[in-house]
Amino acid sequence: MPELPEVETIRRQLNEVLVGKKIKSVEVLREKSFGGDSNKLVGWEVERVGRKSKLIEIYFNNKEEMMIVHLKMTGQLVFVDGKKRVFGGHPTADWVSDLPSKHTRVILNFADGSKLFFNDMRVFGWMRMVNKENYEKEMRKTSPDVTEREFSLEYLTEVLKKSKKAVKLVLMDQEKIGGLGNIYANDALYLAKVMPNRKADSLSPLEIKKLLVSIREVINRGIKYGGASAANYVDIKGMGGTYQDHFLVYKRDGQLCSRCKGVIQKMKVGGRGTFYCPKCQK
Ligand SMILES: [Zn+2]
Repeated sequence: MPELPEVETIRRQLNEVLVGKKIKSVEVLREKSFGGDSNKLVGWEVERVGRKSKLIEIYFNNKEEMMIVHLKMTGQLVFVDGKKRVFGGHPTADWVSDLPSKHTRVILNFADGSKLFFNDMRVFGWMRMVNKENYEKEMRKTSPDVTEREFSLEYLTEVLKKSKKAVKLVLMDQEKIGGLGNIYANDALYLAKVMPNRKADSLSPLEIKKLLVSIREVINRGIKYGGASAANYVDIKGMGGTYQDHFLVYKRDGQLCSRCKGVIQKMKVGGRGTFYCPKCQK
């Protein structure tokens, strides 16, 4: 699964290459991978590429409908323009081999001859046409993602105070907070010096404040480094993200804490690998 910084990296790259492209035709090779009437798209021009949590949003000059894409486990997007190729998502040989491949589910053909391939080996991912107004209404009801202004100190405090679960599980609960997965939850708690298995409602106001700042910092660092290719996600230009070279605690068990020289440990919280420094996280 891609985490938010990986999806944001792909979004930025797509936004660079797709804006202004006019759709000539759409080939849906696997019906279930595409929701809606693909014929409608003919003649539409890409206006911008957006994101909400891990959903990629493609806006067109058509004001009523837009397209949303979820890569899920094995989805990938490959943009081909002559010899130029940019790609992101699940890394497979399809990035560099001839397309379409047996994993190609949808092809967007643009008027200038360039193409966007949606490949998905395990077919959990999808592309979908949605009514823009309904979509935006739905999205307003969902939890804020960590890059949004609505994800405020008040909001985080309220979410944590209401739960007796381990703080790490609450941070990763997508119904409460969008876009924070295992890698970044581990690193944010380390940065805030909070033990991942602490009860969420036991955090002091100061700890919550530090946690908020830490979440923003690790997500911004993730975006800066193009995400982590350790999570099997690389950005669309094919340059693997390098956040894995900058993990603070994630997958660093047995190594020394850079803050206090304690030895980083691993435990399970809610079944997921959890990494922490027993000396400086309280
Ligand atoms: Zn430490």
